[in-house]
Amino acid sequence: MPMPPKLLDLIAQLVATPSVSSFEADLNHGNRAVIDLLAGWLEDLGFHIEIQDLHTDPAKANLIATLGQGDDGLILAGHTDTVPCDPALWQRDPFTLREADNRLYGLGTADMKAFLALAIEAVRDLRARDLKRPLVLLATADEESGMLGARSLAAAGRRLGLHCIIGEPTGLKPIRQHKGIFDERIRLVGRAGHSSDPALGNSALEGMHAVIGTLLAWRDELQARHHDPAFSVPVPTLNLGHIHGGDNPNRICGECELTLDFRPLPGMTIPDLRAELRARVQAVAESRGLAVEFEAIFDGLPPLATAADAHIVRLAEQLSGAVAGAAAFGTEGPYYDALGSETVILGPGDIAQAHQPDEYLALDRLAPTVRMLRGAIARLCT
Ligand SMILES: [Zn+2]
Repeated sequence: MPMPPKLLDLIAQLVATPSVSSFEADLNHGNRAVIDLLAGWLEDLGFHIEIQDLHTDPAKANLIATLGQGDDGLILAGHTDTVPCDPALWQRDPFTLREADNRLYGLGTADMKAFLALAIEAVRDLRARDLKRPLVLLATADEESGMLGARSLAAAGRRLGLHCIIGEPTGLKPIRQHKGIFDERIRLVGRAGHSSDPALGNSALEGMHAVIGTLLAWRDELQARHHDPAFSVPVPTLNLGHIHGGDNPNRICGECELTLDFRPLPGMTIPDLRAELRARVQAVAESRGLAVEFEAIFDGLPPLATAADAHIVRLAEQLSGAVAGAAAFGTEGPYYDALGSETVILGPGDIAQAHQPDEYLALDRLAPTVRMLRGAIARLCT
């Protein structure tokens, strides 16, 4: 049987295979070549290979590689895509793995192709007959641009395991909570007219001023009601990100648009928040005779809140020697949680290096990651 290459070769080949995903169409590439690499290696190790195409884009796919039988085992999960990068800002080619200063430099070393290679390293000597419960390596598409890979798994409704470790960059300290996100566009339509007489129009801009007042008051209410000291920003946030309205100082503003980003804490639900936001804005618009349109720019990633006493959390704490905390960034975890897989985030990279030029992973993170993953497999699968 052929065997996968050595660990550093695995990482180098994954880094050398571009899989940038982006909301910008010209930067958006498929991940299929990375999926095929992983599938080949895992097939050589005796895993059952399932490639799930994303119907939105034939160049994108998820890989579900399973050793053993059943749906009550452990999932090691990671995304195969990276953010776009500007090679001009890097000291060397981002797609060529480079070892220097006890670090591995390259796009996706921290976030998070190296984790997938480390997972393969951890399972290299496993055989199906050693397992009482299955081990699944899950590699997804599109985490960086809408999470379509994880969403399509959630939509298919198939639980792949009882427990899940996602190897996003956490500096090898477990994370069991993060905030959710949703983004919304609000458009007010009034009536333009000559600025000399307010009765000639209905200002959408002044209407938006009232809407913003309402939104900020709502934010104050929510921040007074919801507080979680586990988070470095311990309250839900609402950011007004962009506003545009009107065209001329001497014309009453006929249309005004605002976009915002909302980050709820665990325990807050996005559909309820969005409905409340829209109702409050609608009331302001109606009181001023303005039409209002809403658009979900991003329908939302739910917050993650795996219980402190969940088996996978306790185990990750034992293996890492660190208490599970809360992260400021979002992950695919809520989708796996919704499928019934208790999820913890635990990976070798540091979030400070993610999405940065000269992204790197420290070499001294490699061995502890393999040790932790083998420990988790031993406890949950064998
Ligand atoms: Zn990531």
